[in-house]
Amino acid sequence: MACERKLVESEATTGFFVLLGTKGKKETLEWCMKANLIASHYECPKCKKNMRLLERKGTVDGYEWRCRNQSKDNRHDVVRSVRKGTWFSESKLAITIFLRLTRYWFGKSMNAFVVNDLKVNKNTVVDWYMFCREVCMLACVKE
Ligand SMILES: [Zn+2]
Repeated sequence: MACERKLVESEATTGFFVLLGTKGKKETLEWCMKANLIASHYECPKCKKNMRLLERKGTVDGYEWRCRNQSKDNRHDVVRSVRKGTWFSESKLAITIFLRLTRYWFGKSMNAFVVNDLKVNKNTVVDWYMFCREVCMLACVKE
């Protein structure tokens, strides 16, 4: 199938997935930005400057967009999740989990194996597998 071939051809992608378990949160986010899975920059709605990606302990992604301005005329402190407006925005699971789910789907791994390996709910696996199938089908139909 055309989509499958395209995925395999991308060596950078394959290499990344193999090493996924060893990647830090920052590296994972940067990869997602390069792959256009999440936005690579955000404009602050208050001052129109680019927001900064800052480390934030205790959040599932480890980082978030922030713009803090202390000046008197435009004082604000805007915080934005890195996954806002993405496929992951409704979920509490780490993005790494979704990437690994996708990898397992691509390798046709059995649901029970994935549930055990990633320690996720069976419904999460079923839903994400279905989602992957839809995305791939749409891509094929478009070609
Ligand atoms: Zn701002």
